[in-house]
Amino acid sequence: MSASLNRAARPDGPHEKRDRDPRLSLVDTHAHLDLLEQDVGEALREAREVGVTGVISVGINLDSSRKALETAHAHPGVRAVVGVHPHDARHLDRDALRELRRLAGDPLVVGIGETGLDFYRNLSPRADQERAFRHQLELARELDLPVVVHDREAHAHTMRVLEEYAPFGGRLIMHCFSGDLDMALAVLDMGGYISVAGPVTFHNARRLQDIVRRLPADRLLVETDCPFLSPHPFRGRPNAPARLVLIAEKVAELKGVPLEDLRLGDPFTRG
Ligand SMILES: [Zn+2]
Repeated sequence: MSASLNRAARPDGPHEKRDRDPRLSLVDTHAHLDLLEQDVGEALREAREVGVTGVISVGINLDSSRKALETAHAHPGVRAVVGVHPHDARHLDRDALRELRRLAGDPLVVGIGETGLDFYRNLSPRADQERAFRHQLELARELDLPVVVHDREAHAHTMRVLEEYAPFGGRLIMHCFSGDLDMALAVLDMGGYISVAGPVTFHNARRLQDIVRRLPADRLLVETDCPFLSPHPFRGRPNAPARLVLIAEKVAELKGVPLEDLRLGDPFTRG
């Protein structure tokens, strides 16, 4: 049966299971596969069925970075980003950094992170967060890998640190971007990408939606940050890579192009 006949036979709303559009090949650029309650193989199968063919699994500490790498080796289409989240920054000592460097040598590691600053929850002291952030920026630069940055309630401070390491030449991803347009443009000037998560689908996300409208599509990325941040209409429920389609559809709508014509950035190539 042709894909179009098959599609026509089923309801096609965003909550219905759809047949894959063969032209669709989306990458979930930020997922925490080790934190899913659902079986990872099943979650990846469901994602592939709707056109999410690649998933970047991101570590938040050494243990979850190892798991991300194991998952990447076990499942085609999955690659890993290894690093220590600002919440865990106080644990990034010399030995941990050495282990992180060792993990990053694996060819399926395509980035360092997530690192950055979280002045909302402050689960590690701010000085430790900044120290761990700088160590990981240096490691990413040394290995010529992109760095995946978490910035919550720390925009000015994050930008001040990043400016010291600029330009990035595509090796910078601002994950789940929550800054304003000026900040987004400054990130682009530094050679970075803006990654958009579930909140872009929320009704009150006008600032973020406006940023998406204004930035070139090839400097934008889409991510689920699953199991967190489910897009509308699943807000508050566990998230999964298959729901990336809802986020990508919203971005396509804001850019005024059909989803299959949306050409997003692709920083995760390892040369
Ligand atoms: Zn994350």
